[in-house]
Amino acid sequence: MNYNKKTVKDIDVAGKKVLLRCDFNVPQDKATGAITDDKRIRAALPTIQYLLEQNAAVIACSHLGKPKGEWKESLTLAPVAKRLSELLGKDVIFAKDIVGEDAKAKAAALQPGQIMLLENLRFDKREEKNDPEFAKELASMAEVYVSDAFGTVHRAHASTAGVAAYLPAVSGFLIQKELEVMGGALANPKRPLVAILGGSKVSSKIGVINNLLNIADTIIIGGGMSYTFAKAQGAKVGKSLLEEDWIQYAGEMVEKAKEKGVKLLLPVDGLAATEFSADAEAHLVDGVDIPDGMMGMDIGPKTIQLYSDAVKDAGTVIWNGPMGVFEFPAFAEGTRAVAKALAETDAITIVGGGDSAAAVAQLGYADKMTHISTGGGASLEFMEGKELPGVACLLDA
Ligand code: ADP
Ligand code: MG
Repeated sequence: MNYNKKTVKDIDVAGKKVLLRCDFNVPQDKATGAITDDKRIRAALPTIQYLLEQNAAVIACSHLGKPKGEWKESLTLAPVAKRLSELLGKDVIFAKDIVGEDAKAKAAALQPGQIMLLENLRFDKREEKNDPEFAKELASMAEVYVSDAFGTVHRAHASTAGVAAYLPAVSGFLIQKELEVMGGALANPKRPLVAILGGSKVSSKIGVINNLLNIADTIIIGGGMSYTFAKAQGAKVGKSLLEEDWIQYAGEMVEKAKEKGVKLLLPVDGLAATEFSADAEAHLVDGVDIPDGMMGMDIGPKTIQLYSDAVKDAGTVIWNGPMGVFEFPAFAEGTRAVAKALAETDAITIVGGGDSAAAVAQLGYADKMTHISTGGGASLEFMEGKELPGVACLLDA
């Protein structure tokens, strides 16, 4: 996969109509519809402001929630247009439809330096089907396509990939950074490359483990998935999270690492509990065997030391998946310690995955990382080395 793509700076946008795919999929209060976190709108500002400064006429578009091709008043982008207007300090013209009369008339009248927002793309079922006619109609309003919705680049939808067949397509600053930092780490990492993999299940991370085994110098396993690995190594796991169907696979991964000369680290101690609850008492297990009737909830102090040391001399660290049940304070220490180790190393540090990003933010280390990949599913597929349709469709640099 080629991560070297043209950006908004490599193309002339002055006086042109630019279709800008944003990720305005913001969380909303169920009762009032109020936007509860406008981080994604703020994240889009640098690209929008750049385009406006360049005197482009910006036709922004996004999806919101899962209307499944139907018009749902609760999922209108009108509140986003309002919030965007407040943040920009400038009018945001809102179209009442997507490729209908209102959108087309407003797009045609849009002047350089002005911005408008189309209604929720997923109100039209042709969007998620990547319908070529729909893509063509979207494209017909503009002269250039800029993609800046990293969270949807793993989907081949009309607005994320289809339109690129009809317009010159480049990335905005958000996607550019993802490609530079994450793409750089995958294609040409500063070594040693240490991959820390945790989270709940082996089965949801097979692709990531597989790909990183081919790239990394060291692989560190923690979290719920580590018990399937421990079981494969003959350890007792009590009633820890275990995926029976993946024990053999985990064993094979350990062998594959040996063959490739990749150092693979598994927990050497842990914290266990008799039940999965926030007020469960933490029992220190000084070894790899979890006692009967207990479940592993976090890595222990020796493992923390081992993992922190492995990160110290790294050139690059890619981290996906918490080391324990960090949502419960008694079992957050492993994840916190790894976050701290990443914060203190000179390595390029990259965090991918929805819960991992949330954990790093919750523990207060977000601004200490080189990069936190913003798309949950998209960043997982990125780490799997999969071709991302929303990236592949952009012009090569
Ligand atoms: P990401 O979203 O970053 O890819 P995952 O979704 O794979 O991460 O995993 C996150 C979840 O894994 C968290 O909710 C966390 O509580 C859970 N988890 C971590 N360690 C354990 C464990 N030992 N037992 C059960 N669940 C765990
Ligand atoms: Mg998750």
